[in-house]
Amino acid sequence: MPDTVLALPADLRRDVTIAEITATIVDVPTVRRHKLSSLSVTAQSYVIVELRLGNGVIGIGEAATLGGPRWSEESVEAIKANIDTYLAPMLIGQPVDRIAAAGLRLDEAAKRNNAAKGALESAMFDALGQTLGVPAADLLGGVVRDRIPVLWTLASGDPVQEIEEAERKLAARLHNIFKIKIGAQSPRADMARLARIAAALEGRASLIVDANQAWDETISLHCLPQLAEIGVTLVEQPVPAWNVAGLARLRARSPVPLMADECVFSPQDMQHVASLAAADVVSLKLVKHAGLIGLQKVAAIAEAAGIGLYGGCLLESSVGAAAHLHAFAGLRSMEWGCEHFGPQILVEDLVEEPLRFADFHIHLPSGPGLGVRLDRDRLRRFARH
Ligand SMILES: [Mg+2]
Repeated sequence: MPDTVLALPADLRRDVTIAEITATIVDVPTVRRHKLSSLSVTAQSYVIVELRLGNGVIGIGEAATLGGPRWSEESVEAIKANIDTYLAPMLIGQPVDRIAAAGLRLDEAAKRNNAAKGALESAMFDALGQTLGVPAADLLGGVVRDRIPVLWTLASGDPVQEIEEAERKLAARLHNIFKIKIGAQSPRADMARLARIAAALEGRASLIVDANQAWDETISLHCLPQLAEIGVTLVEQPVPAWNVAGLARLRARSPVPLMADECVFSPQDMQHVASLAAADVVSLKLVKHAGLIGLQKVAAIAEAAGIGLYGGCLLESSVGAAAHLHAFAGLRSMEWGCEHFGPQILVEDLVEEPLRFADFHIHLPSGPGLGVRLDRDRLRRFARH
């Protein structure tokens, strides 16, 4: 018998084989339009994975997308098809406590498909944690922090609405860091919009921006000093993901720190960015790193290179956000906070007890596994038929 992650009693071990996996596409309405440089959404689409063990425990996981296969190559339709046809069959009959080995099997079955793999791995952590009565974070080395500063994204494109939205979040002590999505308008219009927001919130909030690859190197070189002047503290992925060399050239001249997002999926991508000194910070996401173990590998490379860590999101519900929090909980440093506000942008969340937001932080749920339970009524209601 090969080494296992945990020495489970023999009778329990027999029961922890993965018996069934279902993948359900859901479309959940959002409270407002969310505009990125190249897309705009009014409903969030996820694939919810339910993974049932022989012992009857059901683990859950979520794969999030943003506007179809536009943010990355995966769409909910492709995620479900690839789980059903290629990935789930690799896990059926396998013991749930061999999570790293399961990752190897998934990589044999499919290249990339990181959001799909991340949802399956999250469900394995949830099922194993519930079986053992321990939180997923404990299976990854335990908790360093049980709450993380959480920012809010302003992405309607209308500065009057955005200032009002920020004021409401500040008054409720929910968020005092705001990420503003830019790149859908001209740089000149974006600079005017940002200057307006910065002036309205001056001294009470900090601002970061995300261009989602919308600019080229020349425009970036022109705009970065203006962003520093406005008081922006971090600029995310100004140039296309392929242009890591360009990002490195910009970083050498930028008066404001730069964050890598779309250019870092695999640990190898992280190593490439680190070797070129192309970023000050990296955005960590399960959909990019194929799960909690992959996320921690990318984080370790960043940490070794002196690159700061930031918890990114794709507007996950409390299911996906909880999985991220368990992976973030054991990192040595999360100095840039996280953006898991997804549960609050949904008209209704997918879990019985949503994640807790208080005093500008999001809190790690307690309880075994991911610490959140699916609201099956809502799952049925939002399921695509
Ligand atoms: Mg981003």
